[in-house]
Amino acid sequence: MNFYTKWFNSEDKEGKTLPWPCSKVVCVGRNYVAHAKELNNPIPKTPLLFIKSTNTLADLEQPIKLPQSSEQCHHELEVAIVVGKRLTNASYEEATAAVFGVGLGLDLTLRDLQSQLKNKGQPWEKAKNFDGACPLSGFIDFNGSLGLDKLEFAMKINGKVVQRGNTSNMIFPIISLLVDISRHFSLFPGDVVLTGTPEGVSALHPGDLLELSLNETILATTLVD
Ligand code: ZN
Repeated sequence: MNFYTKWFNSEDKEGKTLPWPCSKVVCVGRNYVAHAKELNNPIPKTPLLFIKSTNTLADLEQPIKLPQSSEQCHHELEVAIVVGKRLTNASYEEATAAVFGVGLGLDLTLRDLQSQLKNKGQPWEKAKNFDGACPLSGFIDFNGSLGLDKLEFAMKINGKVVQRGNTSNMIFPIISLLVDISRHFSLFPGDVVLTGTPEGVSALHPGDLLELSLNETILATTLVD
């Protein structure tokens, strides 16, 4: 199945489907000091990268299904960037020009399983790459007027703010992340980068109502099944 993300621009509030399928989601771990500290992790000196494959992609407007294999499916609210150009060993200017849309995503994480894997020094896929582990909002057309280094984002669960972040607090800012990723592997048009979660991660529960907003605009509302 090809997953095409939706995007929005000023002329088309209904949203259009992106012309390219997403080939992967690149995630950034520990990109906010307060979140690294809440999980007792060290602050990285270079971006910590991992990949979610396309089986994880889901539409944030659809209910979230919690996997049976865990008691602790954590939400990690993250700013999501969709790129519109191939990036290989990109310069800062090329990376800036490749930003196509800005949205929000959840890097769903089975925290109990991830802790076991981390303790054994094993890869995290079982905890982070299950089906539906990357619900995405639609993307807002990026026209340069949206300052990538001062995006405000937040998520409420059942009316209460549980996570709130600002990209100005990132250890590695968005464009430098794209540059760094492109030095390790190529990004293709349609690929998504999840740029790290601020503090406030916690477990989701059946019946939770989630509301995600970017710069005070609600981008998605969804229920946990
Ligand atoms: Zn994350």
